[in-house]
Amino acid sequence: MDAASPAKPMRHIASAEDMRRLIVDKLIYSVGKDPQNAVRQDWSAALILAVRDQLVDRWMQSTRKAYREDQKRVYYLSMEFLIGRLLKDTILNLGLEKHVREALASLGRDYEQILRSEPDAALGNGGLGRLAACFLDSMSTLAIPAHGYGIRYENGLFRQSLADGWQTEEPEDWLVTGHNWEFERPEVIYHIPFGGQVVERHDGRRHWQAAEVILAAAYDTPIAGWRGSHVNTLRLWAARPATRIDLASFNRGEYLTAMESAVRAETISRVLYPDDTTDEGKNLRLRQEFFFTSASLQDLLRRFLSDHPDLRQLPDKVAIQLNDTHPAVAVVELMRLLVDEHGMGMDEAYDITRRTLSYTNHTLMPEALERWSLTLFGAVLPRHLELVRWIDEQHLRTAAAAQRSLDLERLRIVDHGNGNGHGVRMGHLAFVGSHRANGVSALHADLMRRTVFHDLDQVYPGRIIGVTNGVTPRRWLHSCNKPLSDLLEETIGEAWIGDLEAIKALEPFADDAAFGERFHAAKRISKERLAAEIEERLGLKVSPDAMFDVQIKRMHEYKRQLLNIMEAVAHYFAIRAEPDRDWTPRLKIFAGKAAPGYQMAKLIIKLINDVARAVNSDPVIGDRLKIAFIPNYNVSLAERIIPAADLSEQISTAGMEASGTGNMKLALNGAITIGTLDGANVEISERVGAQNIHIFGLTAEEIAAHRLAGFDSRAVIEADPILKSVIDAIGSGVFSPEEPGRFRAIVDRLTYDDFFFVTADFAAYLDAQRQVDEGFNDRREWTRRAILNTARVGWFSADRAIRDYAREIWGVDTPPPSAFAEAAE
Ligand SMILES: *Cc1c(COP(=O)(O)O)cnc(C)c1O
Repeated sequence: MDAASPAKPMRHIASAEDMRRLIVDKLIYSVGKDPQNAVRQDWSAALILAVRDQLVDRWMQSTRKAYREDQKRVYYLSMEFLIGRLLKDTILNLGLEKHVREALASLGRDYEQILRSEPDAALGNGGLGRLAACFLDSMSTLAIPAHGYGIRYENGLFRQSLADGWQTEEPEDWLVTGHNWEFERPEVIYHIPFGGQVVERHDGRRHWQAAEVILAAAYDTPIAGWRGSHVNTLRLWAARPATRIDLASFNRGEYLTAMESAVRAETISRVLYPDDTTDEGKNLRLRQEFFFTSASLQDLLRRFLSDHPDLRQLPDKVAIQLNDTHPAVAVVELMRLLVDEHGMGMDEAYDITRRTLSYTNHTLMPEALERWSLTLFGAVLPRHLELVRWIDEQHLRTAAAAQRSLDLERLRIVDHGNGNGHGVRMGHLAFVGSHRANGVSALHADLMRRTVFHDLDQVYPGRIIGVTNGVTPRRWLHSCNKPLSDLLEETIGEAWIGDLEAIKALEPFADDAAFGERFHAAKRISKERLAAEIEERLGLKVSPDAMFDVQIKRMHEYKRQLLNIMEAVAHYFAIRAEPDRDWTPRLKIFAGKAAPGYQMAKLIIKLINDVARAVNSDPVIGDRLKIAFIPNYNVSLAERIIPAADLSEQISTAGMEASGTGNMKLALNGAITIGTLDGANVEISERVGAQNIHIFGLTAEEIAAHRLAGFDSRAVIEADPILKSVIDAIGSGVFSPEEPGRFRAIVDRLTYDDFFFVTADFAAYLDAQRQVDEGFNDRREWTRRAILNTARVGWFSADRAIRDYAREIWGVDTPPPSAFAEAAE
């Protein structure tokens, strides 16, 4: 071991005793607490610091290797990283669980309790942010030298609670107890300019004179993958004022004025926008996007230039992935850095930019496609507006040369906005400025080509590809579902943890009745646990014998929680009418947050809770139907609900869910899906087989045809007495006697403006649910189908998705799964 080696015996854990010593050392010398009076938070901090130590050598080795071998690096830019807790996954990835458990036991501490006291880092809204977190895990697992770049929000996504069934929001102070995983990097600071004007210098070059400069300060979190041999970095940026205090004002006694610009700067990393579909607080949001994009690009260029003299090599050594349009300004920021800061010519800079960047599209919903007014964009980023216009000119010339009769207006990056003022379409900018634009499922990529990006696809054929999302099997099976994970290890070994496709070895066991009983028993353990939590948190007693029917995701009309609760109402009425029939007992579980400004989504939460109140307290119903809305959906709650699910609700309006990843997690954990042919459901269905999934409802194509023809829900409602009775009951106050008109807006939506085709799919959904009931009654057959779901969804691993990105977008090598599984031994 050479002198420079930082490995000290103290830090290398070979036994529970080593672990115990290190935890106590951390508690005393890093947390500064006497073991005699340390509280649970302190032990949690000490354990995190002890585990973090185990990452540091591997982290530095990973970095050194990347430099030494001059490996191509991947940079994943994302406005959101929904990482949740890191402790348990890291312990499992490093194979330390046994030592940690024993060490804590010898200290009189409970492992599970300590795990639960780690704050859940909610730096994201939903699927998009969680995808970024799963990808970090997979890039480390596959030893791809990678950085995640994002914002270190002081307040992550709001904390949700219920007040009389209404959503209320409180700030999420995840940093209050300290984020013990991170390393502050006080020396890594970048200047981020805003506003001002562009002037021409005497040499003819354009020069941006910014009106304001804000500092970006780096905080690094090491991210280990399976077996922990490679460790990557999640680098999050915090905004700092260039000067903390205006001393002149302070000395005059104007204390608030003295702090004003500091507060203004720090606002940039204060809150995560709790809304991933509209652009409220436009100015701040644009500033946030530019802030983290610019800091990240400056940082990666500095790293590149530290051992490459020639920027023309950039595309060979660097791949930058834009997670949706939030970092799309990277197209013009990279151009600006290359041209204005490094003296490169425009054409060459544009070529390098496109070969380096690629863009992932996450939604085709028009209101969710970012578009900045030209006035705002020009005021905040005047130099970038010039560059956008320059790119737009090049782009239109390419389009004109593409010898097709194309509508140039629809192709432009800077559009005319139908009389609402000009704007910059960020999706167009990201598409034009990248060499690949990927959809997140096969259906979604196909819809990109046919709808929003149809014209761009004509000009740049082959640029659109589909890379179906995936989830990490480490967190979403191995770590969250110990009963099933243990059973799998006993039955087929543990290769699936590092190579999820190996889980297909489970398939032959589907017909083995004895194995079926054990699979069922594993699910039962998770259901009992969740039942206990529901009783504790909601005061609702539920039976683990009931089918656990789960819909957990952001509250949004397109995800159609409304369809689900309307089915519950219909079912409730049916049970009341014939209580003595042989009903399949069901527990409907909902969890999800609504954007605070999204009134309809919040009203649907209230409806779910009002229906739950009526159903749960009706003595005629008993265990035949129960409804639970579990507040504050986040990663940790998902980890507790998913293992307990029998039925997975994936019922979005076809054509609107780009992929979904909740669908994958639930199927992997042996839940059977009821769903529409939307997003990745299509591919899940192909893989698990039509017998093992319940598909219903209109297809994306049929929905599109209905939209063209003009869909009128009134005729549907009039023709369906069950649907009519459900809507009438909701509208007349059956569930809200204290305020009969409470759900007027929902009834109006369904009757006059059913944009999400809830009424159109209602009857088919009811039929499908009754088939689900029938299926669940045959326990052995249900379990067989559940096992086949687990066995057949190995392809939906984030590792597979990352291999696809590496091969088809980044041009980066990855080890083959077999070699990887062996090397990991
Ligand atoms: C997986 C996940 C999501 C995405 O769920 P969808 O059903 O695909 O919308 C959202 N939030 C959390 C916390 C998740 O773990």
